[in-house]
Amino acid sequence: IVAREWHREDTVIHVKGVPIGGDALQVIGGPCSVETPEQMRLAAKGVAEAGCRLMRGGAFKPRTSPYTFQGLGIDGLKMLREAADAYRLPIVTELMDVRMLDTFLAFDVDVIQIGTRNMQNFDLLKEVGRMKKPVILKRGMAATISEWLMAAEYIAAGGNHDIIFCERGIRTFETAYRNVFDVTAIPVLKRETHLPVIVDPSHAGGKAWMVPALARAAVAAGADGLLIESHPNPCEAWCDADQALTPQELKGLVDTLDTIAQAI
Ligand code: PEP
Ligand code: MN
Repeated sequence: IVAREWHREDTVIHVKGVPIGGDALQVIGGPCSVETPEQMRLAAKGVAEAGCRLMRGGAFKPRTSPYTFQGLGIDGLKMLREAADAYRLPIVTELMDVRMLDTFLAFDVDVIQIGTRNMQNFDLLKEVGRMKKPVILKRGMAATISEWLMAAEYIAAGGNHDIIFCERGIRTFETAYRNVFDVTAIPVLKRETHLPVIVDPSHAGGKAWMVPALARAAVAAGADGLLIESHPNPCEAWCDADQALTPQELKGLVDTLDTIAQAI
């Protein structure tokens, strides 16, 4: 279902009137984690003022250590929803557990994110496949392109065809940055699938200063959008502080992207 052989034209997914895919270039901004109402209010303001039309924020966090901040859970969903609503921004947030699906629907989460660690959690994929909600499917950190396409197929097989692929970097021998942004995946996926392809340069590089270069490379390579971590005060972020852009940095970056998108 996700293959271009099956559907030749680029698919455009509409999220509350915001098109993802086709000619549009969308930037989803926002913090790694929802922390406080004030942090979210300022984050949403920064996202909207940068020109982003969707907002991200993690309420359920897949942390490596069980002793670090795990996310605010349902309280976090509420803060994300309220902050984003003030600027009419649709929300994107990660689902880790099928038992939270009803809660996600109750908060009208606009785009369900499946994280790198769950790309092959087939039961989770089957459940979101039964929903009528767009899904961002992040690439597993060691997944091949064909495994990633098949993971999307699990979602599509249930009837939900609104899938957005998100390249977020893969694991290699390199340790100088958090992950290796596989730019090659973009033209390959754009050829293999009719669905939108976005890039998360924040989790790829792992450092804020790398984000603009990776973001611009993604757009030049044909990405349909970007998922970027931003925070009103990155130094104080409870999670992924090193890679968050300030609101000013986010705006500065977004302002440079249209020129690149138009040039290709
Ligand atoms: C995230 O986007 O918050 C996240 C945890 O990303 P990933 O699943 O790519 O590590
Ligand atoms: Mn993060």
